[in-house]
Amino acid sequence: APVRLPPGPAQPAGERLLLVSFHDLTPLRRAEQMRADFIANASHELRTPLASLSGFIDTLQGPARADTAARERFLAIMRAQASRMARLIDDLLSLSRIELKVHVRPETPVDIVLLLRQVAEGLQPLAGERGVTIGFEPPAAPVTVAGDRDELVRAFENLIENALKYGASGGRIDLAVLRETGPRGDEIAVSVKDYGPGIAPEHLPRLTERFYRADVAESRAQGGTGLGLALVKHIVQRHRGRLGIDSTPGAGATFTIRLPIVTAAPSGTKIDGIPV
Ligand code: ADP
Repeated sequence: APVRLPPGPAQPAGERLLLVSFHDLTPLRRAEQMRADFIANASHELRTPLASLSGFIDTLQGPARADTAARERFLAIMRAQASRMARLIDDLLSLSRIELKVHVRPETPVDIVLLLRQVAEGLQPLAGERGVTIGFEPPAAPVTVAGDRDELVRAFENLIENALKYGASGGRIDLAVLRETGPRGDEIAVSVKDYGPGIAPEHLPRLTERFYRADVAESRAQGGTGLGLALVKHIVQRHRGRLGIDSTPGAGATFTIRLPIVTAAPSGTKIDGIPV
């Protein structure tokens, strides 16, 4: 005769499953929706320059085949579109890499003053092209934060490039480094200030969302990807910092990154390869 197992306790599994799914339903749906939106946006952003490239290829194979002047002009546009796609893919990859390690704290001592000097120096050619003067009077003493040098360079470059792109009409931008003591201890506040058209208040809360732009046409014209400030936000978060955005429309915009200062460097510590 078949062995009969004694009846076990009532199974709560179904009930528990139901509870879990009820609890998670809304945030889960929201996360799924955000992911779907992100993929749709990214695909759209990539498809736009691709469609333009395909169009130019057709024209070059057809009507413009024998027109040397048109060919040169079209090839220059195609080169710009290809660069835009490359930048977009670069930014997408950086964003996903930084997101993956957002909870891992970067720990290399970095002198923010030296780093800013180098970033500002590197952007001099772009500033010259735009007719913008970069004002920066760095403090004499180094200011050390625990960080990932490449990511910090990227964050400050993004802010300064934006000031040069969107605020160029102001003719100058100012970088400032200020020590502050807040509720969370000593911080360094680095601000990038421009005197361009600024940003209308309704855009401010959404500027760091991926692909969000205050002015889509202007961003496109500047070769923007819409990912710069999302990258900055993630980098700053990973460094336990804060990003502040202030603007007076018509008078300019100020972007400020605050980072915790590392005070006592253990002996044998090197900053940018130099013992301190
Ligand atoms: P983008 O690649 O479009 O520059 P970002 O994420 O870097 O993307 O910036 C998002 C949007 O924020 C820009 O498209 C622009 O509309 C606005 N923005 C950023 N910096 C400035 C600034 N300094 N002045 C005015 N608008 C700005």
